[in-house]
Amino acid sequence: MALSHSLSLPTRTTTTYITPKTQFHFLFKTKFLVPKKPRTLSFSLHAMGASSSSSSQKPDNLQEAGRRVDYASLSDGEWKKRLTEEQFYITRQKGTERAFTGEYWNTKTPGTYHCICCDTPLFESSTKFDSGTGWPSYYQPLGTNVKSKLDLSIIFMPRQEVLCAVCDAHLGHIFDDGPPPTGKRYCINSAALKLKPK
Ligand SMILES: [Zn+2]
Repeated sequence: MALSHSLSLPTRTTTTYITPKTQFHFLFKTKFLVPKKPRTLSFSLHAMGASSSSSSQKPDNLQEAGRRVDYASLSDGEWKKRLTEEQFYITRQKGTERAFTGEYWNTKTPGTYHCICCDTPLFESSTKFDSGTGWPSYYQPLGTNVKSKLDLSIIFMPRQEVLCAVCDAHLGHIFDDGPPPTGKRYCINSAALKLKPK
């Protein structure tokens, strides 16, 4: 936690070692001269998984066209403007695409899979594997950028739903029959993802 906190300070270039003599200078610069971008740095740390152990920290929302978007408060109408019909059905209404029909179920292109709703990086292609299910499958998400929640929508079949931690988009489900090293299978709808090739 301490490491994460100190990395969030944006004045790494000014003074690394604080002595009584330089303390005022350091504090002054911290308080008054810092560019207002610490959240961007914090977000990139999440993306790299640097703070994956601190579950109390939530990834920050991305900035869109220079302004912060509060994804949690977007209405269905606003989401419909941003998404295709299928993307809206999958991500905002917890739908599931048919197996072997999505864009990425068989994709092997190296790159990063982002949330279709808010562009948060969610999975690396290096953790994608052929599950034989017809849905893109990964054994590990990126940092704390996805979260899970108990899903009791099918009676007698409790499942763990996977959601984007930033915008709450429904992504798919997690199962315990994945390959090493995690043994997890993140079974994700292609329509919830956008691949950015390396
Ligand atoms: Zn998202």
